[in-house]
Amino acid sequence: MRRPVPSFPLDIDRKQGTGPGTIVPGPGTIVLLAVAALAVSGAPRASAQPSPEWIRVAVVREDPEVSLQVQGRFTILTLQTGNLIQQGKRLPTVVVRAVPEGIAFGGEILRVGGLRVEPEPQATISLNGRRLRGALEIRRQRNQTLLVVNRVSLEDYLRGVLSKEAPDYWPPEVLKAIAIAARTYALYQRLTKASGDYDVTGDVMSQDYGGESGEKDATTRAVQSTAGVIILHRGRLFPTFYHSTCGGMTEHARVMGDYDLEPLRGGVACTFCSASPFFRWQRRLPKADIAWALRKSVHGSIGAISDFRVTKRTASGRAQEVTIVGERRTLRLTGFDLRSLLGFEHIRSPLFTVTPVADSFVLDGRGWGHGVGMCQWGAAELARRGFSAGEILAYYYPGIAPANLRDLVHQPIDVIGGTP
Ligand SMILES: [Zn+2]
Repeated sequence: MRRPVPSFPLDIDRKQGTGPGTIVPGPGTIVLLAVAALAVSGAPRASAQPSPEWIRVAVVREDPEVSLQVQGRFTILTLQTGNLIQQGKRLPTVVVRAVPEGIAFGGEILRVGGLRVEPEPQATISLNGRRLRGALEIRRQRNQTLLVVNRVSLEDYLRGVLSKEAPDYWPPEVLKAIAIAARTYALYQRLTKASGDYDVTGDVMSQDYGGESGEKDATTRAVQSTAGVIILHRGRLFPTFYHSTCGGMTEHARVMGDYDLEPLRGGVACTFCSASPFFRWQRRLPKADIAWALRKSVHGSIGAISDFRVTKRTASGRAQEVTIVGERRTLRLTGFDLRSLLGFEHIRSPLFTVTPVADSFVLDGRGWGHGVGMCQWGAAELARRGFSAGEILAYYYPGIAPANLRDLVHQPIDVIGGTP
């Protein structure tokens, strides 16, 4: 195959000889260029930009109670005033519950809106049996449920994300590429959505997060060997979307929101993901199932279904608009809305053709996910063929350059706009 030629190589260790197995930029020109680009990319942002060194992850969003345990020394404070509630060498399992007066902590009713649980460095928190690094903020919400936010360093967060987002038996270079994309994506979320009580959720709506319990050696090594490395486009941070399997070609990020920049314009040819179990898929959709799904959705009933077809496709061939003809009315949906209606697990991607067969429609599809940015299965194959993490990233996000947070932490980071 033709080697993908990165437009701005990330393959720093090969060029600078900083040793095999690392792509952490040294004090090289590429980092300096990235920083210089930051310096000229506009007026400095307000110094109120949230710290890029840690992140707030909503790990429980609306549960009436949680179980909490701390192995090792800890301090529990009131969230608003910082008053000491409890301190100790270890906290045996206690049930924390939202009650009308405030928060029930075991048998004790605390008249507070929230708690902060701070373990000492060697101690570990378990929340509902899941071990988490960092500290916890537990807030009582108006509907008498709890919001639990894990305040954790960005690097520790990534250890808990990567083990969920990538199989640990994949080659090291693809794990590094995913670590860098995941770090960049998390930072983008932190710097653009840092209003409210958390930056990201701990589920697939942001990036799947398993905490310390889910960590694996190989994925942790990928996070550690790329510590602090992110990718930028002309010195600006952008959302490095990624997905499981593109099925042939990546998609333009406009399907995700108001994004139009070189690394996210899609059109990257990728047949490298053909080993993915989802490179091709087929689904039979009975007309009655579509009618039923519509009836119980916000769209409402459109009567018995007579036709279903893709009426507009994106440049990469994905369904941009589908038209469903019912007995009573005709409905047009985006590819995303159709997947949301029928289930993302059932309609694995918007890249499909439709064939009517008796009382059903047969969808012949390709890929899993939205198709924007890096294709993980394709990236894994490129790593197997000897490409470095930097080359893989430059292939799927054309026009990028690396930077290290170590060099950026004391200055505001320029972020692209866009409506997520
Ligand atoms: Zn692919």
